[in-house]
Amino acid sequence: MSEKLPPKEEFSEWYHELIQRAEIMDVRYPVKGLYVWYPFGFKIRRSVYSILREIMDREHEEVYFPALIPETELGKEGEHIKGFEDEVYWVTHGGKDELDVKLALRPTSETAMYPMFKLWIRSHADLPLKVYQIVNTFRYETKHTRPLIRLREITSFKEAHTVHSTFEEAEEQVKKAVGYYKEFYERLAIPCIICKRPEWDKFPGAVYTIAFDAVMPDGRTLQVGTVHNLGDNFAKTFEITYETVNGEHSFAYQTCYGISERCIAALISIHGDDLGLVLPFEVSPVQIVVIPVLYKGKEEEVLRVCREISEELKRYRVFVDEGEERPGAKYYKWELKGAAIRIEVGPREVEENTVVVSFRDERRKFKVKRDEISSKIEEWAKEMRKRMYTKAVEEMAKRIKMCKDLEKLVEWVGKGVALTYLCRSERCGEELDKVGSVLGEVLEIPLSVESKGKCVICGEEGRLVAVAKTY
Ligand SMILES: [Zn+2]
Repeated sequence: MSEKLPPKEEFSEWYHELIQRAEIMDVRYPVKGLYVWYPFGFKIRRSVYSILREIMDREHEEVYFPALIPETELGKEGEHIKGFEDEVYWVTHGGKDELDVKLALRPTSETAMYPMFKLWIRSHADLPLKVYQIVNTFRYETKHTRPLIRLREITSFKEAHTVHSTFEEAEEQVKKAVGYYKEFYERLAIPCIICKRPEWDKFPGAVYTIAFDAVMPDGRTLQVGTVHNLGDNFAKTFEITYETVNGEHSFAYQTCYGISERCIAALISIHGDDLGLVLPFEVSPVQIVVIPVLYKGKEEEVLRVCREISEELKRYRVFVDEGEERPGAKYYKWELKGAAIRIEVGPREVEENTVVVSFRDERRKFKVKRDEISSKIEEWAKEMRKRMYTKAVEEMAKRIKMCKDLEKLVEWVGKGVALTYLCRSERCGEELDKVGSVLGEVLEIPLSVESKGKCVICGEEGRLVAVAKTY
């Protein structure tokens, strides 16, 4: 534990070491691409997902669908199965018996849910239907796997599915979903680029896909959320129809949108520093750590005050570190673990009726009257998140460059994200996609840039697009 973390500049090593040292995930499980959540990591997961749940619960109901999907259903939507067939895990046997119909471990749940939606939906009165679930999904990844980023078992896939009577309503739902995800990432202080994915990179079976990308410290982007308008494509395949007010039968329109534990990978990567985790107050497993600074003969008094403070703040996740280590070792440990607010109490503070406060994201230390702490916490948490967001946007801006000519763009992609302009011809899109992944037309970005310009390939009128190397 005494050895230092690799500096964050060596991002890949830093990330790998931090995940283990901060006890987020144990990477020693003996199956490639499968990882174990430590209790500490799972606490981060819980608080992050409780935000997501809180947002979803406003207008969705939580459900649970089985993890096994019959081959007959999975294969129904032609494009959809093409998009997933190389990544599916199959269950072929029950005990020693070969199964009549192979069962897929869900790679995503459209084909598990939609045959049931067909049974649930009869008339316009059953619409809209809005549900979500938080489940594990399986993908047979052949690329290099990485904890929280590229997994064979995605442990925390929040997927929402909605059904509507018209395309316009589905369209409206897509907008709402984008709004929900924006709020979610704002609460985590993570700035995102929001793009409409190009045709060739949309969700298999969707009309279009809107995606959220976070910019990682090494300049590659991480897709951290997607929203799909499915039109009536799946409804036609799975015969999801409803009786209209006039008694006619009509196909339903659908959307789906998802976020996985990649949101936690972004949280760790974007805010962390050379000392370890930096977490917004709302999601830190230890929101406030109280550290007694003990001197001989004064131990009892100092500890008593620390415990009183903890009692006063018990509506938060507060921890008094009464361990045997020296204060310096405790600071180090709680910096690594991203405790948001640190309160130190020594004999002098006891005498003055004060405490020493510092925030994980700042180097500053300051004194506060003891009876003022409790009323300040909310304000401190809010300010901290604001500072973290501002800093994250500044860091992001350093990794994004406007590249109006191709040469410059080729040189920059990989070091960071290139912004440029692209017309809508297929040929130009394919050409640009050779340089890096075209994330698509930029809908929102926390920087000020012109939304239209000359296509970087052919010079015709084009729209703002982002190009990057992706995870
Ligand atoms: Zn062009």
